[in-house]
Amino acid sequence: MSLVVKTTIMTEASNLNIAVVGGGPGGYAAAFLAADLGMRVTLIDPEVNPGGVCLYRGCIPSKALLHVAKLIEESRHASNWGIEYADPRIDVARLRSWKESVVKKLTGGLGQLSRQRAVEYIQGRAGFESSNTLRVAKAGGSDETLTFDRIILATGSRPAIIPSLKLGSPRVMDSTGALEVSAVPETLLVIGGGYIGLELGSVYAALGSKVSVVEMLPGLLPGADRDLVLPLHKRLEKGFEAILLETTVSSMKEEARGIRVTFSSQKGQPSEKVFDRVLVSVGRKPNSEIPGLAKTKVQVTSRGFIQVNKQLQTDDPTIYAIGDVVGEPMLAHKASHEGRTAVEAIAGHKVAFEPNAIPAVVFTDPEIAWCGLTETQAQKENRQIKVAKFPWGASGRALTLDRTEGMTKLLIDPESERVLGVGIVGVAAGELIAEGVLAVEMAALAGDLELTIHPHPTLSETVMEAAEVFYGRATDIYRPRK
Ligand SMILES: Cc1cc2nc3c(=O)[nH]c(=O)nc-3n(C[C@H](O)[C@H](O)[C@H](O)COP(=O)(O)OP(=O)(O)OC[C@H]3O[C@@H](n4cnc5c(N)ncnc54)[C@H](O)[C@@H]3O)c2cc1C
Repeated sequence: MSLVVKTTIMTEASNLNIAVVGGGPGGYAAAFLAADLGMRVTLIDPEVNPGGVCLYRGCIPSKALLHVAKLIEESRHASNWGIEYADPRIDVARLRSWKESVVKKLTGGLGQLSRQRAVEYIQGRAGFESSNTLRVAKAGGSDETLTFDRIILATGSRPAIIPSLKLGSPRVMDSTGALEVSAVPETLLVIGGGYIGLELGSVYAALGSKVSVVEMLPGLLPGADRDLVLPLHKRLEKGFEAILLETTVSSMKEEARGIRVTFSSQKGQPSEKVFDRVLVSVGRKPNSEIPGLAKTKVQVTSRGFIQVNKQLQTDDPTIYAIGDVVGEPMLAHKASHEGRTAVEAIAGHKVAFEPNAIPAVVFTDPEIAWCGLTETQAQKENRQIKVAKFPWGASGRALTLDRTEGMTKLLIDPESERVLGVGIVGVAAGELIAEGVLAVEMAALAGDLELTIHPHPTLSETVMEAAEVFYGRATDIYRPRK
């Protein structure tokens, strides 16, 4: 029955002529689904192919570099197992070109998928003439004015800038500059202890830079549960030159030797140090300053996010918005799921974007991943929960990897025994969290995880074993009966 209804609606939707502004993971996912549902689709982005921040200067290049960093770190660690490697010789130009080849392959593939779907791809920047008319400044220099039935804004975000730290020097980089890997500086200061700063700091530390990180809050990765951050903090203390918490950068000045940075902290006197390079990684700002937006009814919040409802529709009925430009968490998978919801809403399907769990992954070493409710959030909301933790010291697989610092925890509703959240720190936590997301979304009970046979020996067993801990019957841990 529902299939018949959908088919009818899809036929109506297929007459629609829609534009998607921005070709990132939100925009291209929306454009491709719209084309699959039979709509006429125009996708507009300044790059030669779709991909957006994620593919050109975000998720993908950073993960390519982090893979190399992990390899270098493992080779250094191998002496623990009786294997000695010489120090790596790093050819930065080849490293860069490998990373660029990954980006080119993926974005080229997206270009091909657009053509296969007959999506009209326009390389350019779009602004509004009215609620349904866009003026596109094309890459070649010409302008085109186009009218659509619906417009989806997927314009993403850009690195936030602190005006006093803007020196206009090539020694001061944002994440885009750091991903270029134009050189491996002897010393690097990362301003901001969020995930982007720590991931990129880890890359440079592995390549040989002495990396310091400065964070104004009392801990790295603000927002993440402290017990998840602790093993990473400990490891970074060894790999980084310094981790300065509750410290801010009060000024920066370029000198012949580098950037002189003045730090201030409530605990002590201001101090100074010169760094070869500085990476400013203090968050991201939504790209909501779209030319002509004021000619529409779209509303922007005080934080610069475009306001949308659960169907991702803005205050202007013809305009939808998705991805980083509509709010946190600014993550690629959130953007693409919102893209799908917006298109389905346009097609007339009964949909809403209301996930129970959007996973967050920090691709450092160890990785940190969580989904659903966090302990920090539960405490803030005064929610009664039970937390079951399985330490990886009791995991056979973690021992074989010589990485026992990890931990898997489940946040469980004490009444219903429903899994409300999952947090993992350890190698491959980013892969493992997918099971947690499924558990939270499917309203799994701790008992479901306990009874699900997991393959041995794998790190995935730690999810099952955390559930065993909840019931006080974990095979691999001994807890005397009370
Ligand atoms: C270093 C780094 C690492 C990251 N790592 C991860 C990760 O591991 N996992 C993860 O989930 N997320 C990661 N992110 C975040 C992720 O990149 C973003 O959440 C994601 O790209 C957002 O997708 P989007 O579609 O909203 O917009 P974007 O990817 O930002 O794309 C928006 C596009 O719109 C274009 N645009 C803007 N204005 C206009 C206009 N007027 N006309 C036409 N086009 C326009 C932009 O040029 C851009 O191409 C990372 C980000 C950075 C910077």
